[in-house]
Amino acid sequence: MFCAVVGGAEHLAVYRDEHVVAFLDHAPVFPGHTLIVPARHYPTIEDMPENEVAPLFLIARRLSIAFRSTLGADGSFIAVNTRISQSVPHVHAHVVPRRKGDGLFSPGRGMWMRRRYAEGEAERIAAKLRAALEGAT
Ligand SMILES: [Zn+2]
Repeated sequence: MFCAVVGGAEHLAVYRDEHVVAFLDHAPVFPGHTLIVPARHYPTIEDMPENEVAPLFLIARRLSIAFRSTLGADGSFIAVNTRISQSVPHVHAHVVPRRKGDGLFSPGRGMWMRRRYAEGEAERIAAKLRAALEGAT
């Protein structure tokens, strides 16, 4: 599934280089929720050569910074599921924008509650993040 995205299947592109591909999750926890996947197929992070783990988190860091400048986020949540709760067997890091008081970890909210983007909203957010990451170092 994510190999298809790496290969060019339709996705809301945020970033791409020779190591990783980043794109918006179509059903975000919060708007801007991005998935970063290694360009090569590894089922879990445990299967990755150590030198390929670094590029994934390098982009997670840049995205966290970009969330603040482009979406007005106060912070981020970065997570990688391994087998348990891992819905797609191709490593992916979730990078989720956070705001003070968003209640992500509040009891009763249902932590991993997904929402839908309004018409055109995802495309606008992806374009902002792309622009921010192009300028980032
Ligand atoms: Zn794959």
